[in-house]
Amino acid sequence: MIGLFKQWRRQKALDRVQVSDAQWAEVEARLPFLGHLNADERQRLRVLAREFLADKEWSGAQGLALTPSIQISIALQACLLVLNLGLDHYRGWVGIVVYPGDFVIPRSVIDEDGVVHEYDDPVLGEAWEGGPVLISWFDDPDDAEGVNVVIHEFAHKLDMANGAVDGIPGLPDDMPRPAWIAAFEPAYDDFCRRVDDGEETVLDPYGAEHPAEFFAVLSEAFFETPVALRDDYPAVYEQLRCFYRQDPLTRPAR
Ligand SMILES: [Zn+2]
Repeated sequence: MIGLFKQWRRQKALDRVQVSDAQWAEVEARLPFLGHLNADERQRLRVLAREFLADKEWSGAQGLALTPSIQISIALQACLLVLNLGLDHYRGWVGIVVYPGDFVIPRSVIDEDGVVHEYDDPVLGEAWEGGPVLISWFDDPDDAEGVNVVIHEFAHKLDMANGAVDGIPGLPDDMPRPAWIAAFEPAYDDFCRRVDDGEETVLDPYGAEHPAEFFAVLSEAFFETPVALRDDYPAVYEQLRCFYRQDPLTRPAR
């Protein structure tokens, strides 16, 4: 009985989400990395994004008025990651909180002398384990300084799905963990050295902060600048290709 009720409620939520072809197309046109999907992939992405829009609880923070365009844009980008993995990867939490531009999270740390330091941490987004995803929204993507906040935070969600936030998401049976580590570990060490040396990198230097950030930053690059990622770290590209079960490099117009 409960199962049926749940199913009915879900169908009702889904019925409420009506997006016209023109609305999809308008939002997709502002996401150039979707332009490379073929017709079948694009259709599947819309189906997933509509379910995602219905499943999640959306709220705007700090006075941001959530518009359908903003929600559709976030849904399309979040679902791009799981296009061939399925929405189950985003189950177990519902909240999506959208901020106007970057925002500040109050933090406190206790140092070795037991003194608590409170400070404000300006961030572009945050993903909480088992909790909501916080995202800053920029009307002009150029204001986000080359960062794809949505792909970044949802990559963290995939990383968290198997417990530790360590840059290793839940791998399918056909992807051995040692092979993942053998690709990512030397790439991370190399990237940290390059960033320390002050080298200009195509990849966001924020990836040198922690292996989990490296995975999130490389996921952004995988979808947005796959050529640069493949050239810098081919073994990592290969692991991400197997994990996401898609190959942005083979799409037309790359
Ligand atoms: Zn991050």
